[in-house]
Amino acid sequence: MSELANTDPEGVDGVRMTWNAWPRTKVEASKCVIPLAATISLIRPHPDIPRLPYAPLRCKTCSSVLNPFSRVDFTAKIWICPFCYQRNHFPPHYNAISETNVPGELYPQYTTVEYALPLSTNPNSFGNPNLDPAHQLQPSPVFVFVLDTCMIEEEMEYVKSALRQAIGLLPDNALVGFVSFGTQVQVHELGFSDMSKVYVFRGSKEITKEQILEQLGLGASGRRQAGGFQKVVQGGFPLSGVARFLLPASDCEYTLNSLLDELQTDQWPVPPGSRSARCTGVALSVAAGLLGACVPGTGARIIALVGGPCTEGPGSIVSKDLSDPVRSHKDLDKDAAPYFKKAVKFYEGLSKQLVSQGHVLDLFASALDQVGVAEMKVAVERTGGLVVLAESFGHSVFKDSFKRVFEDGEQSLGLCFNGTLEINCSKEIKIQGIIGPCTSLEKKGPSVADTVIGEGNTIAWKMCGLDKSTCLTVMFDLSSNDRTNTPGTVNPQFYLQFLTSYQGPDGQLVLRVTTITRRWVDSSVSSEELVQGFDQETAAVVMARYASLKMETEETFDATRWLDRYLIRVCSKFGDYRKDDPSSFTLNPSFSLFPQFMFNLRRSQFVQVFNNSPDETAYFRMLLNRENISNAAVMIQPSLISYSFNSLPAPALLDVSSIAADRILLLDSYFSVVIFHGMTIAQWRNLGYQNQPEHQAFAQLLQAPRDDAQIIIRDRFPVPRLVVCDQHGSQARFLLAKLNPSATYNNAHEMAAGSDVIFTDDVSLQVFFEHLQKLAVQS
Ligand SMILES: [Zn+2]
Repeated sequence: MSELANTDPEGVDGVRMTWNAWPRTKVEASKCVIPLAATISLIRPHPDIPRLPYAPLRCKTCSSVLNPFSRVDFTAKIWICPFCYQRNHFPPHYNAISETNVPGELYPQYTTVEYALPLSTNPNSFGNPNLDPAHQLQPSPVFVFVLDTCMIEEEMEYVKSALRQAIGLLPDNALVGFVSFGTQVQVHELGFSDMSKVYVFRGSKEITKEQILEQLGLGASGRRQAGGFQKVVQGGFPLSGVARFLLPASDCEYTLNSLLDELQTDQWPVPPGSRSARCTGVALSVAAGLLGACVPGTGARIIALVGGPCTEGPGSIVSKDLSDPVRSHKDLDKDAAPYFKKAVKFYEGLSKQLVSQGHVLDLFASALDQVGVAEMKVAVERTGGLVVLAESFGHSVFKDSFKRVFEDGEQSLGLCFNGTLEINCSKEIKIQGIIGPCTSLEKKGPSVADTVIGEGNTIAWKMCGLDKSTCLTVMFDLSSNDRTNTPGTVNPQFYLQFLTSYQGPDGQLVLRVTTITRRWVDSSVSSEELVQGFDQETAAVVMARYASLKMETEETFDATRWLDRYLIRVCSKFGDYRKDDPSSFTLNPSFSLFPQFMFNLRRSQFVQVFNNSPDETAYFRMLLNRENISNAAVMIQPSLISYSFNSLPAPALLDVSSIAADRILLLDSYFSVVIFHGMTIAQWRNLGYQNQPEHQAFAQLLQAPRDDAQIIIRDRFPVPRLVVCDQHGSQARFLLAKLNPSATYNNAHEMAAGSDVIFTDDVSLQVFFEHLQKLAVQS
């Protein structure tokens, strides 16, 4: 790869594809083994993307947007749509168009442009008669904090201090609401500052949306009662709800802070041997109902801070009896998790409600035990919510991540709301679905494929929440009608157009249009162009996402065998070899890294789920599905850098042989960053050599990996766990678990002194390759 490609492989468009040249037929595509897929970072900022201050022109037949690949007849003032070949007349305000005077969206380099849209054209939210004019003009982001109070005093203090900090960072115009819960749910009326006023809901029973509104005085009868002093009612909508429960941050900071000062841990008695009665499900239902009544269709997030498992009412994941453990992967496998399916169903219902309202669920789970991330995953992922899993509200993984949600400026996550993605494609191309944080809008179109992968059956998807790192994977198929796609009769290029509309952090409505083109190739004639266009890093990530999805949705799916079969087929198809001669096997450089990615994927937390809890697996997968390819690749195959005297920091093999007594290693496995000191380095450090002026070089050697670790941590959300450890120390397992076991206790006698062995029966990369070559060349 060239240096340029390494620095920004996504380019301006934020698109990466498994194949950058596509075979012309469905049959040829299936021979490529690795599916046709594109990943797109929907709203990743880039300095070369212009923002145009007017509305886009759309094709009158297929409604795709005018783009640099449209053919333009300047004399006739006509453009030809590259998707459906429709001839479209330019409207009168484009009359001045000529070869030397073209609008921004036709510049060849502007394959991605953004249109700043006036608010009134937003079909989702604004122009909503239920919102008062002030909110229509200046949409404020809405944050409802939902705080678990079933926790020990110490944790409570940590989470309160994080909340106080967050409230201080909110923009003044942000609307804030507050719900706390334990055995019961308390909705705090913030607009009532003279004394604290609270609405209490029982946590033990499922509660309908109507009941929630009724009890909060936002339902039909509540309106009648309150009618006397309700000043503004527009379209029959209780505007007082907004003023009572959702207040501008600048107006309620004091109220919220004093509320937090007084808020106690849940006082409901917990009998010995029992878990707290915690009604997370009802609390989230109430918060969703409140937002649905007050701000439907406008950008809002429920920020759930959860310190333990739901045990009360809908969404429960375990009984209150402590001798009854929270479900494990084994239990799920054996169908011995009696609460699981019911809880998932409950959260599916909640996700549907949130998606229809356009609202996001963010989950901050901090506890030593599981809290139910696996069950809540559907609601977080389908609404495009954030998720952070930590051991404690005092841990930097929670504290620093939570702070970043509210930070502005360069550190800002760029949280956006109310996103919709639509995809247009050349007529031979079909869309099977999307893997990632979105919901299918079930919008039918000619490019919907018969088979579904992930969120499918549609050409449009909803992302209630999205941010500058949100990345989706689109799975494609080709039309089975080969006649439409015969060589010579059609365009040698195909086109894909991604239309993402969203409400920016500043309230601005934006439509981002990315149009890309790639070549059709006749792979039955020659596979050279096909091979050159293979992106192995993207392919590895897409396979990881696809395998994870299948593991979640198909019972008895064997991911290891499935991946092995794919890899062997790739190697048989694209390797160079003489039949039945493994020693003759070589791979084109376009494919040469792929087997190692698969080797590491097989060993990763995504496939070896039994080493983790279902909550951890759900967490890892949500991040795998939403991050860009470079980040997701590091989750599968961590990066390792070696630091030693007399040489610059250099990438090291992800192998136990990289460990040496006089080296420091920096491992980035995405979720954790490990600084590992070799034995000698650790001894010198313990003796304090770094503090002696004659050992300045040693001090620098110690500092370099720390600085590099901070650079990684600074730009990442959630903030990774930092582990600093020494060779043979107990924390060293964080490194060893990720290394290729080229040296195990089976061959320890061959090892050099000062090196390390891994106690495992896993096959090493070398053994794996030997097997692979043998199987790939088999006739
Ligand atoms: Zn068209």
